[in-house]
Amino acid sequence: MSLRIPFLIVCASLALTIAGPSVSAETRRVVLLFDERVELPGLSLLDAEFARTLQANSVDPIEVYRESMDLSRFGSDTYKSALRDFLRTKYADKKIEVAVAVMVPAFEFLSNFGKLIFPGTPVVFCGLDRKQLRDRPLPPDWYGVLVKREFAPTLDIVLRIHPKTREIVVVAGTSEFDDTIFAQAQNEFRAYESRVAFTYLYDLPFQSLLPMLSRLPSDSIVLFTTFFQDGAGKPFIPHEVVERISTAASVPVYGFADQYLGRGIVGGSLYSFVSHGADTAKLVLRVLSGDAPSQAVSEVPSNKVMFDWRQMQRWGISEHSLPPDAEIDFRELTLWQTYAWQMALIFGVIVVQAGLISRLLYEQRRRRYAEVQSRQRMSELARINRFSTAGELTASIAHEINQPLGAIQTNAETMELLLRSPSPDIDEIKEITADIRRDQERASEVIRRLRSMLRRAPFELSDIDLNELVRETEDFLSGLAVSRQVELSSSIAPMPLPIRADRIQLQQVILNLIVNAMDAMADMPKSERKIAIRTTRIDRFADVAVSDTGPGIPPEKAKQVFEPFFTTKAQGMGIGLSIARTIIEAHGGRIWADNQTTGGAVFHISLPLT
Ligand code: ADP
Repeated sequence: MSLRIPFLIVCASLALTIAGPSVSAETRRVVLLFDERVELPGLSLLDAEFARTLQANSVDPIEVYRESMDLSRFGSDTYKSALRDFLRTKYADKKIEVAVAVMVPAFEFLSNFGKLIFPGTPVVFCGLDRKQLRDRPLPPDWYGVLVKREFAPTLDIVLRIHPKTREIVVVAGTSEFDDTIFAQAQNEFRAYESRVAFTYLYDLPFQSLLPMLSRLPSDSIVLFTTFFQDGAGKPFIPHEVVERISTAASVPVYGFADQYLGRGIVGGSLYSFVSHGADTAKLVLRVLSGDAPSQAVSEVPSNKVMFDWRQMQRWGISEHSLPPDAEIDFRELTLWQTYAWQMALIFGVIVVQAGLISRLLYEQRRRRYAEVQSRQRMSELARINRFSTAGELTASIAHEINQPLGAIQTNAETMELLLRSPSPDIDEIKEITADIRRDQERASEVIRRLRSMLRRAPFELSDIDLNELVRETEDFLSGLAVSRQVELSSSIAPMPLPIRADRIQLQQVILNLIVNAMDAMADMPKSERKIAIRTTRIDRFADVAVSDTGPGIPPEKAKQVFEPFFTTKAQGMGIGLSIARTIIEAHGGRIWADNQTTGGAVFHISLPLT
């Protein structure tokens, strides 16, 4: 317990330190008195910026009250008196520290009733220009920010952007405020009368104004000042007027106040309600902090060169023709600007994807090239292997050729004898000649087969019947089987086995298997040397099995026999089966070795049927 008390004290003092000024901060109160309704565009811009600047720069919380006095529509003295009493009652219990008068009528109202409604409260005013203030003496705790309205800078900008302009059409209203502004503008324009012609449209009824503006010649420009009342005395809301005017006008419309930007004017050097709101708030802050300026009234230029991007597009005005300090609002962002990061992401993904695709294509080409190369190598190696097989076949080939040659010789001798007789038997001679031709063909066939076996040929697929190929290979090796004293038999599937294969290479595989089987049985008694070749169809595959009655393959070597250079033979190279596997795999097939239950090895080849 004794430890807890100092701990709580530390926490409490820490909390106070962290909370800082907000603990001691007291709420300050400011009231804004608008001559009109605060929702009017210019006033609402001023109000928003005023509140934002005030809150952003104040340590203390500030409560802002607003009064829309609507004095141009309800300007009777009775209303004003009632309003005075109402406000007095309303704010009697609130300690207002600054009352702000916005625009001339509000200034007048506070001049008359301020002391009564907010006794002892300092007043800040804004929205008046120097002329409107005249030389009126101000009470001691009154401060103001004056508006500097300028019209010539907009005209300079117009003449810069549209150098061919010959006529300026000035549109203005007829209210007291309109008149003041209009007079000021006309005064500034006098200096330009030698350069362009001026037409002032200020006393027309609104309805006849629009058709006139729609028929203006292309070398004219419209300047809009203010329009609270038309020539027929009808009240208007200026920002609605400017919208309708710029829609109807056949030429661009320029203005002087930023509240009309976005409502149809192209732009100009615009008096900014936004800046004026900020300047007024800064002055209020000084008064609140007790640091009121020694000079009660200041005049801050608050014009900004601004343009509406959409109007620029409408009238074909390029960005390059604008003054360098111009600000462009309402820019319609391009897809890139609106979705910058998303687009960058998509673009990045596309680039990465394109990179991947080209990498894959490159790899695919490389693989194809490697495949072609490996096939070429395989073909070369296979050919070498065929030469070595041919070496083994030499004896049987010689035997195969010798047989027909011997028969030819015997037949030739017989024919000689017949020809020596006085009446040779022509029919017999014909028979003998036919025999000689047949034997010659047999010998030629042996040579042709050998040639085709040793031919240098690229890997080439064609449609063949596996049964036929097996039969042919068996024939080819029949001589070798005789010389090796091996019984070679075959069992061929009853149905054709169509496959797509390289005839020479596939024959070489079967040949290798049969010769290997013969090798394996070399040490067996002659009567037991048997090789059986069998073709079958299993589902969608053609199967060839070459079985022998040799010692078989030790089970642990069943896979190893296909490895390159594996051999158990004294003169062996150990490449026959590895080439066989490569060839079969290049045909999309499988090759494997097994042992028969009855003894001896069996080699299987399985190839897809077409
Ligand atoms: P090589 O015939 O030059 O030895 P192969 O690749 O054709 O090369 O054969 C590899 C090895 O596989 C042979 O040395 C042999 O040990 C074994 N082999 C092949 N066929 C058979 C078979 N039918 N019976 C037993 N062993 C075999």
